[in-house]
Amino acid sequence: MARIGVFVCWCGANIASTVDVESVAEAASRLPGVAFATDYKYMCSDPGQKAILEAAQEHRLDGLVVAACSPRMHEPTFRQVAAEAGINPFRMQMANIREHCSWVHADREEATAKALDAIRMMVARVAQSEPLEPIKVPVTRRALVIGGGVAGIQAALDVADGGVETILVERTPSIGGKMAGLDETFPTLDCSQCILTPKMVDASRSEFIKLYTYCEVEKVDGSVGNFKVTLRKKAKYVNHELCNGCGDCFHKCPYKKIPSEFDYGVGNRTAIYVPFPQAVPNKPVIDRETCVFFKTGKCRACEKVCLRNAIDFEQEDEFEEIDVGAIIVATGYDILEPAEMAEFRYGAIPDVITGLQFERMSSASGPTEGKIVRPSDGEEPKVVVFVHCVGSRDENYKEYCSKICCMYNAKHAIILKHRIHDAQAYLFYIDVRAGGKGYEEFWKRACVEEGAEYLRGRVSRLYDENGKVIVEGQDTLSGEQVEVVADLVVLATAMVPAKGTEEMARILGVSTDKDGFFNEAHPKLRPVDTATGGIFLAGACQAPKDIPESVAQGSAAAAKALGLLTKEEITREPTVAVVDPFICTGCWNCVTVCPFGAPEKSEITMTIDGRKVTRPVSEINEGKCEGCGLCVASCPGNCIDQRGFSDDQVYAELGGYLERLRAALTHE
Ligand code: FAD
Ligand code: SF4
Ligand code: SF4
Repeated sequence: MARIGVFVCWCGANIASTVDVESVAEAASRLPGVAFATDYKYMCSDPGQKAILEAAQEHRLDGLVVAACSPRMHEPTFRQVAAEAGINPFRMQMANIREHCSWVHADREEATAKALDAIRMMVARVAQSEPLEPIKVPVTRRALVIGGGVAGIQAALDVADGGVETILVERTPSIGGKMAGLDETFPTLDCSQCILTPKMVDASRSEFIKLYTYCEVEKVDGSVGNFKVTLRKKAKYVNHELCNGCGDCFHKCPYKKIPSEFDYGVGNRTAIYVPFPQAVPNKPVIDRETCVFFKTGKCRACEKVCLRNAIDFEQEDEFEEIDVGAIIVATGYDILEPAEMAEFRYGAIPDVITGLQFERMSSASGPTEGKIVRPSDGEEPKVVVFVHCVGSRDENYKEYCSKICCMYNAKHAIILKHRIHDAQAYLFYIDVRAGGKGYEEFWKRACVEEGAEYLRGRVSRLYDENGKVIVEGQDTLSGEQVEVVADLVVLATAMVPAKGTEEMARILGVSTDKDGFFNEAHPKLRPVDTATGGIFLAGACQAPKDIPESVAQGSAAAAKALGLLTKEEITREPTVAVVDPFICTGCWNCVTVCPFGAPEKSEITMTIDGRKVTRPVSEINEGKCEGCGLCVASCPGNCIDQRGFSDDQVYAELGGYLERLRAALTHE
């Protein structure tokens, strides 16, 4: 007979206010196989854990049921306690009486009865549990960073600093991300490029970093410590081994009017191009969609001028498989397409632009060489309206706050005043959110020292008249209707997840939140982990963030990855599938359904009636099995079981509940 201990947690008032924890513990003590049961305020606390250890010794327990919160939160904690008590950690189960009982029921009696049922089921399950040993697998000492913005660059540099090889994959032709296109940065107004480009160069020169630009992740297999990643290296049509970046080709390219993605259409580029002068690598790619040769079969002007014979129109996309132990996702953000918000007239009125377009204009290395002009006539604007919260904090678009717009609007107002001294900035805002070091002082500087006029209220109407943009809104502080006749309007559009985030989440097997950003494992305690082991998050791919936060998270993700990659081997859950080779018929159903390629075709030789017979059987590769259970459910011969979820355990668990139901119905 098993000797199981049941420990019922109050979770302060979280559980105890709805579930009668004392009576649950008392009733649990009478369940078959239970040698001891008690309740305590906080089971996960040090005294709570000590109480389990003492009870285990005193009552010679060989299994534990902790009735508390979700196993997602504290299963590792209580498994550790079990191990310290000399109990196999896989003979510890948690009954979730918080999320499944106290948080979802108001009726104390019903919640209490349900809590006892949950415990009854777990006791039955533990009684059937076999002791399991964790599986040890060697770790591939290499990291992959996806996304070469400031967060990804920082993460790659820090992992490389730890002496671990890192592959940095960026889908555009250069690393740098959005920060490479910014002018000066709040709150210190230092030049964005001056602080970023040295990091970009360091990343390209590090002996531990392999840079793959114009490259995307196609497929990810495997699991923590051992991922197999397929990369698609997009054809650049320029051999970067031969190219020396002289630039003759793009000066010669006849097709010069392609709106530059890097300049958000403020400037143009050629069909063969380097996105910006400080790009890393500083070598061109040919955009197949716009190249005249690819469209008409004629031109090849770049090929004619290239003295290095680097142009290669025959190049094709290449695929490469890499093995890595950890993955850091740093795919950043995009801005909400302003044309989707018709009321702001973006696209209809040329002098309505976005904050990122303003950055490219004011940047000294941008297409206007730092001159702020009206797109419609190239004139200097004297009255500029900056609109906060365009698409953010708006239930019609995005409910969340994009966090950085208050600050960059203040920055834009300051930069405007520095470049055009007699210009006047008006800022329509809901309220100013400036929660960072030096941020409050910064926006105050915009209004007090630089004369920016803050108008508290949303823009109600925006239209063009006689070459001006008329902006109407209500100043909720004065209660008056205001109208500004502007030369230029700059929209602070919401930050949204980078295009392709959903697809990337699917490839990686991680989740996204309701707004489409990558989900962290825990919002407070594990902000850079995902729920998938070995995959970490950095920067604005997780939520809107400014540069300091993105850099900090890049370093945090690198520390997490290094913590994993500096181990020789890691332990994996032993809850993997096992095939009974004596009844397996080799139908290969499991091989077909397994998304992780764990079941492998094998053979077994057995002696039947004195004859040696060899037959095909399936064998599970434990290093690959993720314990999803698909093969178990799909095997027509019921030849596969899953450790920790064996048929006996699952039936015992259900039986525990059905027995109670039977007793209730027959009034026993
Ligand atoms: P990004 O900069 O978006 O970089 C992500 C990178 O990942 C990009 O290079 C992208 O091409 C790449 N990528 C995306 N998907 C994939 C994929 N599937 N595979 C491979 N690569 C991929 N912050 C400040 O602190 N100070 C400022 O003054 C400031 N000014 C700003 C002004 C404006 C108008 C805006 C909109 C933002 C401003 N910010 C500022 C915020 C700043 O831009 C971000 O904090 C920072 O860029 C976030 O860095 P990141 O690396 O997380 O993302
Ligand atoms: Fe709360 Fe879970 Fe800790 Fe109990 S074990 S105190 S339920 S967090
Ligand atoms: Fe490279 Fe040739 Fe173009 Fe020069 S002309 S940048 S060597 S491809």
